[in-house]
Amino acid sequence: MSKITMKTPLVEMDGDEMTRVIWKMIKEQLIEPYVDLKTEYYDLGLKKRNETDDKVTADSAEATKKYGVAVKCATITPNAARMDEYKLKQMWKSPNGTIRAILDGTVFRKPIIVKGITPFIPTWTKPITIARHAYGDIYKNTELRIPEGAKAEIVVTDKDGKETRALIHNFSGSAGIVQGVHNLDRSIASFARSCFEFALSERESIWFASKDTISKTYDHRFKDIFAEIFESEYKTKFDEAGIEYFYTLIDDAVARIIRSEGGVIWACKNYDGDVMSDMVATAYGSLGLMTSVLVSPDGVYEYEAAHGTVQRHYYKWLKGEKTSTNPVATIFAWSGALRKRGELDGIAELVDYADKLEKATIDTIESGVMTGDMAALSKLENKRSVYTEEFLGAIAERLAELMR
Ligand code: NAP
Ligand code: MG
Repeated sequence: MSKITMKTPLVEMDGDEMTRVIWKMIKEQLIEPYVDLKTEYYDLGLKKRNETDDKVTADSAEATKKYGVAVKCATITPNAARMDEYKLKQMWKSPNGTIRAILDGTVFRKPIIVKGITPFIPTWTKPITIARHAYGDIYKNTELRIPEGAKAEIVVTDKDGKETRALIHNFSGSAGIVQGVHNLDRSIASFARSCFEFALSERESIWFASKDTISKTYDHRFKDIFAEIFESEYKTKFDEAGIEYFYTLIDDAVARIIRSEGGVIWACKNYDGDVMSDMVATAYGSLGLMTSVLVSPDGVYEYEAAHGTVQRHYYKWLKGEKTSTNPVATIFAWSGALRKRGELDGIAELVDYADKLEKATIDTIESGVMTGDMAALSKLENKRSVYTEEFLGAIAERLAELMR
């Protein structure tokens, strides 16, 4: 059988610990037998980041801008313990943060749905994807405690030194607190474009919500920017794709999400996204079944698993013990990236292969063979918890059949 050939290289970002071990297994057992893999390889393992003064991370992001699609393995974000463990020159920043800043992207988290693992909200039969605006609001705030009798105002000084003032509160009866928050039209617009791009890519409708009835200038600005960009740049494309953009108030969105069957992308302001992403992820179950895609406003895609490097399993593996680590989100990062590469380059076989890789993975779990984290949640009667190697082997067998 001849292998599928690729045109444009995929940017491959290798990573750390257990996910690095699994990364290699996935490539060797599930991808390379079928695809003549053409990647531009960047080693984002912490050792290499330290050797290159983290230049490798920036380089990988620049390559992603150039080629349009990347797949990333989980990486260590250094803390004090990692400084000693890896004898680091510096406490290098989170690679995800660096890449996101360079691509100006938004992260979308999407759960993988399998039969037997029922979400805590049983009506959620389709995935709910959460996008969090990762700039500003309370995450870049200035706060003060205010003594009784003081007056707090907002003062804005324009380019020419002219001041505009607005009263926040006269603290005449009690001491209190104030908070100054901001956001940027530019950042909101990037967020909106990433959301609309991703909705088109997934062919799923997108919701956005804020509290514009109460926050008539601040939140209303979000609503207006989303509406303007949608009308002028995306409405026609959405109509053609048969999907919609829906704006509502945040409390209404929460109520509707709970009653929904899923199958939507939910774009959230920074704080809403922080809170709701944890709620939605928990409701769907295992971290090992949560995927993550970084999408830039100009439609560049970086696929990864939402979980980390699974350090605890790695230390067992180093001692020669077997582990039952879930590779599914990492497999879906690869299938997502290869499918997108196939779509962009017009390679139908590559898209078809990505579909089959996902089907083989889901069929394996639904047949009862799964890793421990999934077995703990699955309601299948014939479920069997297996080691990572066995699980990948079972997927490889099914994939071979589907590819025959
Ligand atoms: P983690 O790697 O996500 O693992 C936390 C725990 O969740 C694991 O110990 C395991 O529980 C369970 N788990 C996560 N993924 C799993 C999988 N695929 N299969 C089975 N169980 C899974 O988070 P962490 O231990 O807090 O962080 C480890 C390292 O990852 C840190 O250095 C952190 O900086 C990094 N990190 C990277 C990313 C990223 O690159 N996107 C994201 C998050 C964290 P049990 O031990 O109970 O089995
Ligand atoms: Mg949170």
